[in-house]
Amino acid sequence: MKKDLPSATSDQDLAHKLASSGMRMTAQREHVYHTLLQQTDHPTADEVYLRAKSAMPELSMATVYNTLDALVKCGLIKQVNVERTASRYCSNMNEHCHFFCEECGSIHDVDFKKDKGELPLKLPRNLVPTQVDISLRGRCADPLKCPNRNRN
Ligand SMILES: [Zn+2]
Ligand SMILES: [Zn+2]
Repeated sequence: MKKDLPSATSDQDLAHKLASSGMRMTAQREHVYHTLLQQTDHPTADEVYLRAKSAMPELSMATVYNTLDALVKCGLIKQVNVERTASRYCSNMNEHCHFFCEECGSIHDVDFKKDKGELPLKLPRNLVPTQVDISLRGRCADPLKCPNRNRN
């Protein structure tokens, strides 16, 4: 099977990175990772499980959970936390921040450009960021594209 996912990490790279966090690469773990790359809509672990399971019925929930964990630890995906909801997972490793729609619960990637290697923020000189986690809240501009997906 030919895989040409743009900007996706190669399988060797995936194996290598998993190994560095003490995990062997298995067909199941690889499948979980590829499932995440296919739809970049920031699914929850449960959603990843349902999607991945449809092509690999023997996949267990525990495998999905510990694979997601390992992928986050080795920096191949990001965990996105929204208050009061389950963690979501993001496979876009380009510099970006997240926009949460408070009406439908969707998460959108918002790119931001570094200016000469500097963050587009006015940071005091005595602070050096090692991790950036910016989030924005609001609503989709187009109500038709904002189905009420809130599950409460
Ligand atoms: Zn994202
Ligand atoms: Zn929305």
